[in-house]
Amino acid sequence: MRKICKHCGDDFDLNSIHKKEVGGFINECPDCVEELGGDNSPPKYLGVTAGDGKMSGVSILRFQTERDKEAYAKMWRNNSGYNKGKECQLGGHLSTTSGFRFEIVQTTEPVNHKGKL
Ligand SMILES: [Zn+2]
Repeated sequence: MRKICKHCGDDFDLNSIHKKEVGGFINECPDCVEELGGDNSPPKYLGVTAGDGKMSGVSILRFQTERDKEAYAKMWRNNSGYNKGKECQLGGHLSTTSGFRFEIVQTTEPVNHKGKL
């Protein structure tokens, strides 16, 4: 199965042994995956509620490493006030959100209170 790499535009064989060894995303050729640091770890998933505070809005994030997942979870709890009760969520205690390697796998669309679209 031929796919076009989103990074370099080359087509590559999704089912090739090289691609299976290297891993990465479905639209990344093995060369680019290796260039970007590889993807040999199993997917790490973390569900977080959306920033608007509605429990219906859930984002599922996939992380490259367990360490990134933990770091993101820690940052998210900090930034969302999870560890600080109902304290104001703005202020100097926000952790940086940069440097994490993850993609948003799925974000649910909140429906209205009647459950209709
Ligand atoms: Zn590529």
